[in-house]
Amino acid sequence: MLRIAIQAKGRLNEKTMSLLADAGISASVGSRSLIAHAKGADVDLLLLRDDDIPQAVAMGTADIGIVGLNEVEEKNANVERVMDLGFGGCRISLAVPREADYKGLEWFNGKRIATSYPAILSRFLDKNGIKAKIHTITGSVEIAPAIGMADAIFDIVSSGGTLVQNGLVEVESVLESQAVLIATPELSEEKREELDNLCFRFRSIIESRGMKYVLLNLPKSSLDKALTILPSMKSPTVLHLADPDWLSIHAVIPESQLWERISRLKAIGAEDILVLVLENIVK
Ligand code: ATP
Ligand code: MG
Repeated sequence: MLRIAIQAKGRLNEKTMSLLADAGISASVGSRSLIAHAKGADVDLLLLRDDDIPQAVAMGTADIGIVGLNEVEEKNANVERVMDLGFGGCRISLAVPREADYKGLEWFNGKRIATSYPAILSRFLDKNGIKAKIHTITGSVEIAPAIGMADAIFDIVSSGGTLVQNGLVEVESVLESQAVLIATPELSEEKREELDNLCFRFRSIIESRGMKYVLLNLPKSSLDKALTILPSMKSPTVLHLADPDWLSIHAVIPESQLWERISRLKAIGAEDILVLVLENIVK
């Protein structure tokens, strides 16, 4: 039985639960419980604050965990980074007041930087030979310069809207983060097998996200042109219809290219176009 540490509530919780549910692991999690046994798989969920997940996995309290790479790096936890999960994307960046005369990293020499990520920041500053004073704060880091607590900040950025609101500009992106699957360094052989099985499911789910399954009817005379328009896993499936002048074509298309490809297919005579959600791609 695997014990998986996940964020109890917060930004990663919902997407983590839905990834697990897609992989056949669902649990009804009470608001106060710390641990839940999953339905449909021999798995326990340990519900923690994200800060505590790297250590819980490093110590073996949980066998594996799902957490932001930023937390893993900050805690410098002794864990295996098993796979990237493709959600919870953000970066940790240095930002300075808009009016600062910023020309490069040397600007930070002698400055006070507020952050909730002192370990990542101090590694970065050391590597670049910059001597700055790090103020560790847990709350709203982005207001520190405005209230005179710091000259700059080092914090999570996703859209950048919060920085703009606080009169700050991002000047150096230090870490690209996303949710990652981590594992304790000493997994038994049996648990390793369970983990491999879970990774296989996660991979097929992640790969199918953003892909659509498209079916359409096409005049036979347009087949060569259609083959240049359609991407697919190997090559599109081409089936005969009862009417000898028409074919049915099936293909897997990335969502980002869907409408552009469909309008080109319509232009060469495609009709009856069905777009279906793809649940899994198993390779
Ligand atoms: P906890 O109560 O579990 O300690 P938290 O308040 O520390 O939660 P959240 O704000 O829920 O953390 O964020 C969890 C993770 O989501 C972050 O560590 C980061 O990896 C990721 N994340 C993605 N986008 C953002 C964002 N815009 N702001 C903050 N975190 C983000
Ligand atoms: Mg936290």
